[in-house]
Amino acid sequence: MNSSLRTAPVESTSDSHRDRLSDVKRVVVKVGSSTISRGFELNDGALDRLVDDLARVKRSGKEVILVTSGAIAAGVGTLGLSSRPRTIPGLQAAAAVGQSRLMHAYEDRFQEYGEMAAMILLTQEDFNNRKRYIHITNTLNTLLQLGTVPIINENDTVAVEEIKVGDNDTLSAHVTNLADADLLVILSDQTGFFTADPRKHSHSQFVDVVPVITEDIRKAAGRAGSQGGTGGMITKVQAAEIVTGSGEMMVLADGKERDVVSRILSGENIGTLFLPQTQKSSRKRWIAYSRPPKGRLLVDNGARNALVDRGKSLLASGVRGVEGEFEYGDTVSCLDENRDEFGRGLVNYNTEDIAKIIGKRTSEIERILGARYYDEVIHRDNLVLMEQT
Ligand code: GLU
Repeated sequence: MNSSLRTAPVESTSDSHRDRLSDVKRVVVKVGSSTISRGFELNDGALDRLVDDLARVKRSGKEVILVTSGAIAAGVGTLGLSSRPRTIPGLQAAAAVGQSRLMHAYEDRFQEYGEMAAMILLTQEDFNNRKRYIHITNTLNTLLQLGTVPIINENDTVAVEEIKVGDNDTLSAHVTNLADADLLVILSDQTGFFTADPRKHSHSQFVDVVPVITEDIRKAAGRAGSQGGTGGMITKVQAAEIVTGSGEMMVLADGKERDVVSRILSGENIGTLFLPQTQKSSRKRWIAYSRPPKGRLLVDNGARNALVDRGKSLLASGVRGVEGEFEYGDTVSCLDENRDEFGRGLVNYNTEDIAKIIGKRTSEIERILGARYYDEVIHRDNLVLMEQT
């Protein structure tokens, strides 16, 4: 194991970082099925405790958005099925039954505290399309201004594999970006992030603060998969990459801890805190994280330096290779000569056209393609530099 991971827990006593948590104004809380359901039943006690905690956070003047799983689990139980359906329509049917039950469970409980719940169901398509993304942002902001608690899940009833976010850890990170929240709290069946799965490796160490997500952290997460949730530890670290890469904080903590969100927000030392990197604007967050890149451009070192150090656009002359299948306007990754990703951007030409103009001067584009639609392969304004670790 590399020293950056080994020293992470002791390097930063988290107190100074945790002070910042009390300044949070808008928090997204993600709760997994393992926390709020038992088998195929909703766990009433766990829901009572969660809503009590969130209502307290709300009363303290903070805005709260809840991303919750549990629709499929609740649907399976309500329908009296003995196991999780194996077919897509079966899962979608279970989600249709379970989602309304899940929502009802929250609505009733929030009402007891005088709070109003509002439901939003999303799929990956809502994040792919910039206009739709902005519409949802506006709706979410309005719901918060009206004092409601937005409750979000994937729209499992309509979402098939191709249009799915796929797991609620990633969904909650997208929602944190969309809502421009200052903190994501992921509640799961683990007390936080460990250097290896604590249930399998006795030497594993709890990590109090992750200053930056390195390759070692990603590898440790790959090893520390949880049985409980859809995504295990790797999707939690990916969520942390999205949130911290956008410039916000994330805490991963045990959903069974009493008043866990209130205590995190008061700066108490619970769970693992992932520290924010450089702040990104809403549009740049959308480019970098809201939809998976459709392809890769291999960029030579000279062009890479012009992009990273001198704020230039990417021209065809700096492109050495092209991979994937993409169209004009899709998101692509920019890889350096070591194949490390250093940027993501909206591309001005499709795969076939780029393959034809690779390494060429801008003045040659018209002769080769019959038209010069753009001078740049990726314009500077549509390019986001990613933190390289
Ligand atoms: N959306 C799914 C559900 O409500 C859960 C997905 C997840 O837990 O990541 O059952």
